[in-house]
Amino acid sequence: MLAGGVGGARFVRGLREAVRWWHPDAAIDVVVNTGDDWWLGGLRITPDLDSLLYTLAGQNDEQRGWGRVGESERVAAELQAYGVTPEWFTLGDLDLGTHIARTAWLRSGASLSEVVARLQQRWDLGGVRLHPATDDEVDTHVWVASDAGGEHDLHFQEWWTRYRAQLPALRFEQRGLAAARPSAGALAALEAADVVIIAPSNPVVSIGTIVSIPGMRDALRAVTAPIVGVSPIIAGAAVRGMADACLAAIGVATDAGAVARLYGPRSGVGLLDAWLVDEADAGVVDGLRADGIATDAVPLWMRDLDSAAALAEAALQAGLARRSAS
Ligand code: GDP
Ligand code: CA
Repeated sequence: MLAGGVGGARFVRGLREAVRWWHPDAAIDVVVNTGDDWWLGGLRITPDLDSLLYTLAGQNDEQRGWGRVGESERVAAELQAYGVTPEWFTLGDLDLGTHIARTAWLRSGASLSEVVARLQQRWDLGGVRLHPATDDEVDTHVWVASDAGGEHDLHFQEWWTRYRAQLPALRFEQRGLAAARPSAGALAALEAADVVIIAPSNPVVSIGTIVSIPGMRDALRAVTAPIVGVSPIIAGAAVRGMADACLAAIGVATDAGAVARLYGPRSGVGLLDAWLVDEADAGVVDGLRADGIATDAVPLWMRDLDSAAALAEAALQAGLARRSAS
């Protein structure tokens, strides 16, 4: 599957459960967005990879929805007192352990893929392997209007965390994108897949960033496996997130049908063989089917592990049905 952080983590936990129950011989490979990554206080931070790692390892803070459970912030307070990290971005003490380990390995010459492999050795992720979409640094910047006229850019994390995506984005810039390549692990996972699932993640700054890596779109279009997408939009709203602000910036409506058309049908120049929308969006099914995307309406709210597992199984079945049809 292709995934961003929070939506991706909820979905993959459900997928792991569905695989345990119904497909015990299967393995799950996740190609993870790295567009939110950045350098802060001399450390390389990879938020989406960490959300997935902590969630799958049972180490995430369920109350807050992100970061480590049982976290403390003693070091963070020191860093803020020195002005090394801003007050709007706290690095918890346990979380800092991960960032220091990652940065140490990167500095000793390891690729991000190697670092991710080492980090996940520590915990039992239950048969899930994480792969960064790319080993190259492709940090997302957001262009906004300046008070004095003109425009300037912020790192995505500042726009997202400090301004809660409330500064209207003029456009997103994936810095370093032209020279980036998909990671070898991501490409190998796609090639070997029986079904490819695009998680209900942010279609612009998570999935959009993954598929914009030069070579990734071609690799996806070339897979023999069916590609099934799950809508992150339910009844015209982003669930638990600010994906609507990102869609607005690229001129796409916050609508399950509009996101499917953004990804496009694989029979045309797009990515999707099949697409799942919520039952509240059943009205878009016929139009999308006519456009060549096999669309079904199922419950898309991941309220708990059971509902996430049922959704994941529906996505797998949509893919497996297309394998036997072809
Ligand atoms: P981020 O990297 O932490 O922003 O997380 P992702 O990119 O993986 O996904 C965030 C998006 O997931 C949100 O903007 C929502 O659109 C979507 N999402 C979150 N929870 C649910 C859910 O229960 N069901 C569905 N269908 N989408 C969800
Ligand atoms: Ca993210």
